Amino acid sequence: MYNAKAFSAASETSPLDSTTIVRRDPTDTDVQIEILYCGICHSDLHQVRNEWSGAMPTVYPCVPGHEIVGRVTKVGSAVTKFKVGDTAAVGCMVDSDGTCPECLAGFEQFCANSTLTYNFPDKHTGGVTYGGYSDSIVVDQRFVLHIPSGLDLAGAAPLLCAGITTYSPMHHWGVTKGKKVGIVGLGGLGHMGVKFAHALGAHVVLFTTSPNKKEDALRLGADEVVISRNADEMAKHAGSFDFILDAVSADHDINAYLHLLRRDGNLCLVGAPEKPLAVAAFNLLFGRRSLSGSPVGGIAETQEMLDFCGKHNITADVEIIPIQQVNEAYERLLKSDIKYRFVIDMASLKG
Ligand code: NAP
Ligand code: ZN
Repeated sequence: MYNAKAFSAASETSPLDSTTIVRRDPTDTDVQIEILYCGICHSDLHQVRNEWSGAMPTVYPCVPGHEIVGRVTKVGSAVTKFKVGDTAAVGCMVDSDGTCPECLAGFEQFCANSTLTYNFPDKHTGGVTYGGYSDSIVVDQRFVLHIPSGLDLAGAAPLLCAGITTYSPMHHWGVTKGKKVGIVGLGGLGHMGVKFAHALGAHVVLFTTSPNKKEDALRLGADEVVISRNADEMAKHAGSFDFILDAVSADHDINAYLHLLRRDGNLCLVGAPEKPLAVAAFNLLFGRRSLSGSPVGGIAETQEMLDFCGKHNITADVEIIPIQQVNEAYERLLKSDIKYRFVIDMASLKG
């Protein structure tokens, strides 16, 4: 065991503050990573403030962060995927049983015995897992990913959650050229959704509550932008979408979007608001529409997504902050005041 520097929250009402945590020494199959950048996902905020107390209650102290990019500082004797000095990345999961049908099919995100990167029972320490708001992390090589050379490392960090969470459902539900695709909410996930849908050749419509994001949305790859609070603008798209990805973090009316789907269209939730969302049955019955959801993605698919980003030169649009500004960043997230992902420069944790 060794001590690592980190930022943690002591309770659901406490700000994040600097602390020291205990990490395990690398086992034979582990990779130790010096963390260079960690993205700030809205899930970090939900979790730190215990907004998912029903499904995933928070254990304190909580060290969030699951968009991790860094450099390998040590490898176990059986590690074959990485060597000291390599760039390495870790996303939302750090372990799974590796033997169940889900794992064997590459769906570690559905493994009943998977371990999330933070706030999850840690079989090594007996406590809970601690995430990437820290100067280092130790992870089994199966859950460590390669960043394609040439990608900016700070911009690549958000790919590990915002990237895979938007790429995976588009891949699964066949977003491609000729499809009309809606993205709801231009935040961290939404702006990656726009980039991927555009790169996959779809006709992309971005729905936003923030009129000042219109120009950015078009620059990021949207073909059209709809201000979702304008009923007339919404009505023009009734019954026309093949697929809509909803990446909104707060309570909102999903019926307004179900109504925009064509026959057999699908609205996929990736956003995880605190409170249940109401569904008007007729919005599903008429048009045989589907409402679905999707959590992150498997490890092989995450590497595939990263390689896709390498090929198409896709990274997140980031605002880099020192870790001392993390609490302000959370307040700005709540105001949708981010273009379009905060990324912590972990050098700020040294000193
Ligand atoms: P974010 O950067 O804060 O973006 C959320 C966006 O939602 C905002 O920028 C805003 O976009 C829109 N929005 C916020 N409040 C709204 C409201 N009251 N009504 C309508 N729109 C609103 O958050 P994020 O990091 O992208 O995460 C989005 C959600 O996905 C969170 O709930 C997060 O926990 C969840 N998530 C899920 C997974 C998964 O595996 N499924 C993975 C990561 C994150 P506009 O300004 O454009 O309206
Ligand atoms: Zn996330």
